[in-house]
Amino acid sequence: MHCQVGLMHKYSVRCPTCGEMQDPMSLICSKGHDALLRTFYGPLQLTPRNMPGIWEFYDWLPVEGIISEGTGKTVTYKSEAFARKLGLSDLYVAFNGYWPEKNASMMTCTFKDLEAFPTMQRLLERQDGRIMVVASAGNTARAFAHVCCITGQPLLLVVPENSVHRLWTLHADASSICLVTVEGDYYNAIELANKVALRQRFVSEGGAKNVARRDGMGTVMLDAVLTMKKLPMHYFQAVGSGTGGISAWEASIRLIQDGSFGNVLPQLHLAQNLPCAPLISMRAGNITDQSIVDGKCPEDMYDDVLFNRKPPYSVAGGVRDALQATGGRMYGIDNAAAAHAQQLFEELEGIDINPAAAVAVAALMQAVEKKFTGHNDSIVLNITGGGMERLRRDCNLYPIVPDIRVSAHDPEAESKIVDKVSEKFQR
Ligand SMILES: *Cc1c(COP(=O)(O)O)cnc(C)c1O
Repeated sequence: MHCQVGLMHKYSVRCPTCGEMQDPMSLICSKGHDALLRTFYGPLQLTPRNMPGIWEFYDWLPVEGIISEGTGKTVTYKSEAFARKLGLSDLYVAFNGYWPEKNASMMTCTFKDLEAFPTMQRLLERQDGRIMVVASAGNTARAFAHVCCITGQPLLLVVPENSVHRLWTLHADASSICLVTVEGDYYNAIELANKVALRQRFVSEGGAKNVARRDGMGTVMLDAVLTMKKLPMHYFQAVGSGTGGISAWEASIRLIQDGSFGNVLPQLHLAQNLPCAPLISMRAGNITDQSIVDGKCPEDMYDDVLFNRKPPYSVAGGVRDALQATGGRMYGIDNAAAAHAQQLFEELEGIDINPAAAVAVAALMQAVEKKFTGHNDSIVLNITGGGMERLRRDCNLYPIVPDIRVSAHDPEAESKIVDKVSEKFQR
């Protein structure tokens, strides 16, 4: 299942601030710069590989082998009905999810799959037997659970109690997962997971700092450009951390260096759900987002996967730089606009979409209305998740059963988790 493909050292990892080469597995610059490390690939031209799912983009993923089973990739297609409705002649949908008629088989139904596979492949390559720790309120947890059921790698999932219903898998045997539910909110779960991840036998997946996550998400842009045969003028995505936007920008830089697809960076159009939109506040220079202070978020959000308290905004190579380099825009979308967009898109394109993706659809509608995009402009709309209802109809989904429940206020919580992991994985 885990095949070695190609030569070693197909890529290097460097700090964008000092240019210094880094340990390829490092998450931070050895010189201490506050920067997202970036991957540089040997092959400057993108050659699609005849390999399953995401591994089509093997040359531009920071891995030295593949997990061949269970991977899906983005499916990009030219929109007809929805494009006509908006009066657009060159709109492409980059669909991430399950949609058998379009050969879309991202089986956890969001683009978090694109992060999970390269990240787990790299963990395999480290061969240090460490246990990956993931804290998530939903989509990320499902994606990592899926890949770990396939590889059998042990995974510690730490999730807030009230989001456990989102954790399901297509695999009857989920014994490689230790699921901890935390009585408390998402931040209590993250805090606890971070503490455990610092221990020797554990490793954190690294979030936006992890080049495998970003380059995995960057394959959305690669797929779109291979389909369109050119770089789009605009890229629309709903963001929480903004990592997908950073990834699209980084992929576009590589595609320009490739030389075959044009030399203008696509403009980023990133959407957040109002009023819980810390990236919009940060861009406006507000250090504290009142909606966060008041504690209204993420409870009433259209989709709480779009909420992130500490997005990588001002770090070098982060969201601010990505917006600046591409002349990008941010959109604030309220729940009513998202609901309207979701209904319209689903009806016209014929597939259910994730509520987060509807926020991007609403942003595109707003951009067209305000004439931020021209009718003949080439546009990529990233549908970051879709086809979940369709999958529920077609497949048997198994809920992941919690192994232990802890309270965020229990001083023993961390050691209880560690004990449970030892018991479950015999290590
Ligand atoms: C995580 C997620 C997003 C936001 O992604 P970023 O990390 O902010 O780029 C958007 N849509 C869905 C469905 C997601 O799961």
